Amino acid sequence: MRTDNRARRGAARPPARTGRTPGAAWRAVLFDRDGTLIEDRHYLADPAQVTLLPGVAQALRRLSQPACRLFVVSNQSGVGRGYFSLENAHACNARLAQLLAAHDVYFADTLLCPHSPEEGCACRKPQTGMWDMLRERHGLSAEHTAMIGDKLDDVRLGRAAGLCTVLVLTGKGRDQAAALGLPLPDTGFWTPNTPLPPDRPHAVAADLAAAVDFLFGAA
Ligand SMILES: [Zn+2]
Repeated sequence: MRTDNRARRGAARPPARTGRTPGAAWRAVLFDRDGTLIEDRHYLADPAQVTLLPGVAQALRRLSQPACRLFVVSNQSGVGRGYFSLENAHACNARLAQLLAAHDVYFADTLLCPHSPEEGCACRKPQTGMWDMLRERHGLSAEHTAMIGDKLDDVRLGRAAGLCTVLVLTGKGRDQAAALGLPLPDTGFWTPNTPLPPDRPHAVAADLAAAVDFLFGAA
């Protein structure tokens, strides 16, 4: 893509649009679940199969400050397709919470969309229904919220909601970024210096730890 030669790599700073000190801007971070926080297994339904991706617990621990709340927004169309029950989906979220509690990391809220694409709901990403619910329920502001995910649908939700948006290259992220013609950093993150088309992320990060570096500055 034409902005490659002007890209900044690895320089930890918040998005230029905020002009804030690293770590000062973000009061809330929304995470996709499968492929972003945990290993992406096809239609995960068994809590025993919930496996944190490498470095995720430590990265979330860095974010866990009183001033910044963490949220999960997850598409679980396996429920709507009849592949597994809503109880299965909740059980997997409960297992994720249990794994992270061991690291003293807690989510302020965990939402899932149980619908199949054919149902045309307002909550399946890239629709912004889950963001709308979190915003109202927790008094969030788009200006102080970031979205991190491994799929274009996460990017589209984030951009449509006006959130700072990071695509991670774990899970399906590498394929998604390649399809968009975006750089694929092996470590750290890439962020464009030029105006952003509506379906592009503010940064592409090698993994969740690199996404946290982008948002909050390097550890
Ligand atoms: Zn839905």
